[in-house]
Amino acid sequence: MNAPFLWHNGQIKPWAEATVHVSAHALHYGSSVFEGERVYATPQGPAYFRLDDHTRRLFESARMYEIDIGYTPEQINSACLDVIVANRMPSAYVRPIVFRGAGGLGVLPSEGSPVDVSIMALNWGAYLGDAIEHGADVGVSSWNRPAPNTHPTWAKAGGNYLSSQLIAFEARRGGYAEGIALGYNGLLSEGAGENLFLVRRGKLLTPPTSAGILAGITRDTVLTLAADLGIPCEERDLPREALYSAEEVFMTGTAAQITPVRSVDRKDVGNGKPGPVTRQLQQAFFGLFDGRTEDRWGWLTHVRTAVSEQEAA
Ligand code: PMP
Repeated sequence: MNAPFLWHNGQIKPWAEATVHVSAHALHYGSSVFEGERVYATPQGPAYFRLDDHTRRLFESARMYEIDIGYTPEQINSACLDVIVANRMPSAYVRPIVFRGAGGLGVLPSEGSPVDVSIMALNWGAYLGDAIEHGADVGVSSWNRPAPNTHPTWAKAGGNYLSSQLIAFEARRGGYAEGIALGYNGLLSEGAGENLFLVRRGKLLTPPTSAGILAGITRDTVLTLAADLGIPCEERDLPREALYSAEEVFMTGTAAQITPVRSVDRKDVGNGKPGPVTRQLQQAFFGLFDGRTEDRWGWLTHVRTAVSEQEAA
C-alpha cells in the first residue's frame, strides 16, 4: 500500500530506509503528533485537500505537547508536495508524523532531545470499504472518549489512538464496522476515527467540539457545504437516543470521507439505506474533486501548480 519514497527529516528517501531506534520516546510514551490528509485526482492533476488546515492542526498539536517541529509550516507543505511528486502519485492518503525520537527514556524529555519528522504517502481507498455506498453497521462502545482535562482531544496525538483502538476492537468483536463513543458525560462524542453527524426532522446535527472530539477538517467541510446548500445545521449536545430516532446518520473523516451509517446497535437508521441529505453532501463533497462543486473556499492545492510556483520563486 505504501509508496516507494517518503520524506524523512528533510530528505526524500526509499521507504525502507526511514528507520527509528527502539529507545524512541514516542514508542514508550506516545509522544507523537500526526495528520491524515488526502490528495485527490482532479482534472488538473493531483490536488491536496485543505493542506494548510492540516498543517495548522499539526503545529497546534505539537504546541500542546511542547514538541518543536524544527521546520516551518511552509517547509512542511512543500515537503508534502515533494512526496507526491517523487512518487508520481495521481492520488494518495498522506501521513505526516512528528515524534520524539531516541534521546533518553525520561518521561520528561530532556532539553533539545531529538524530534523526527516524516511524511509518508499510501494508496488508501475508502477507509470503511463499500460502506461509503451502502452504509456501515456501527455499535455504541462501552469505552468513553477522554474527559476534558485528561488528554486534549483537539491534539491529533499518537497516544489518543489507544482510546480509538479500544473502541475499534470492541466494535470488531461485536461484528460492527466501527464503534461510536460517548463522552465522559454520557453524551454522543465521535467514532474511533471519525466525527459523527445525524439528521433529525430535516436538520443536520453534530456534537460540539467540546464533546471530547477531534475537531475534524471533514466535519468543518460538511458544515460549510451544508450551510452553502441551505441545509439547516446545529452543533449541539446530543444524547445516545438521538441515534435511534435519527432519519440519517453518517460519519466523516479524511480516511472515511463521508460514510453513511445504515444501522446503530443493529437498529436500522431510517429505512436502512443512505438518506437524501447524506447523498447530497457526498455529491457536494466529491464534486470538489471532479469539478462539479466549485472550490470557492480555496481548499485545493494543485500539486503541479504549487511545485512550479515554488520552482519559479
Ligand atoms: N476523530 C478522530 C478520532 C479521528 O481520528 C479523525 C480522523 N483524523 C476524525 C475525527 C476526523 O478528522 P478529519 O476530518 O480532520 O480527518
